Amino acid sequence: MTDLPAAGPDLACFDVDEQIRRLKRERNAVLLAHYYQESEIQEVADFVGDSLELARAAQRTKADVIVFAGVHFMAETAKILNPDRVVVVPDMEAGCSLADGCPAEAFRAWRIERPEAVAISYINCSAAVKAESDLICTSSNAAKIVQSVPADREILFAPDRHLGRYLNKTLGRKMTLWAGSCVVHEAFSLQKLLALKTRHPQAKIIAHPECEEELLERADFIGSTAGLIKYAERDPGTEYIVVTESGILHEMRKRMPAKVFIAAPPDTDCACSLCPYMRKNTPEKVFLALRDLAPRLDMPEELRRRAQKPIDRMLELS
Ligand code: SF4
Repeated sequence: MTDLPAAGPDLACFDVDEQIRRLKRERNAVLLAHYYQESEIQEVADFVGDSLELARAAQRTKADVIVFAGVHFMAETAKILNPDRVVVVPDMEAGCSLADGCPAEAFRAWRIERPEAVAISYINCSAAVKAESDLICTSSNAAKIVQSVPADREILFAPDRHLGRYLNKTLGRKMTLWAGSCVVHEAFSLQKLLALKTRHPQAKIIAHPECEEELLERADFIGSTAGLIKYAERDPGTEYIVVTESGILHEMRKRMPAKVFIAAPPDTDCACSLCPYMRKNTPEKVFLALRDLAPRLDMPEELRRRAQKPIDRMLELS
């Protein structure tokens, strides 16, 4: 059974947020949501964060059920860290262009060609790729993880070439990069960004390192989603052009109501940038996932164990 109540008088008084709260109590469930989720999901979540914060929250939870409102690889990470808990996702189709662009077999073949190299994978990859990696990183801890590898060791970095190139440049490394990218961060338009900056000359440009180099070169600050929020909180400025998925603006405006946050425009007609994968999740699907405890994320134990090792190394190092 996966439908909402039938249309009619009952549906008119159906309060999705209230039903989610009720089911969370009844199921002893925790709802983890990424900053890129729509604001209604963020408001009803128990914890909102970026990939690293969510991985830590998943590790700490005592709940019987984890509802993961994010994308598939994030829910996999929650399952890897919590084999005995039920992990459900609002929409199993919520993937990621980075994870999809790095199939495990191709990644394995890449590694085999360079057996001496250390393989660092950005957390935006499948459990199967994690299982083939030596270390995992997020955009919050990537510099620390890369620097933990001796300077004379060759490093393979997958799957985001923009983050990899940014790390090579800032850390002076020569990592070999997988040619993946994020469809959202690659879609920002430099021309529109500069036009926006002309209209808001006082605004600081703050950008995620998954963006293309020409945009990062214009940024006043580059950081992970959590890093961008922390920067804006500490910074004395009052206006920011935010170059990442625009779901983050909800948390920024909530924490800093006196500041102005403007979504950087993509190279399309719309004014903000939304991840098509993240946006597959809706409050109604969160409700259904809690009610039916499905779709459920499971994986073979042998794969889970192998994928856990590089994640544990990351959590120890960060
Ligand atoms: S914003 Fe980009 S990296 Fe994040 S889930 Fe969407 S496609 Fe993947």
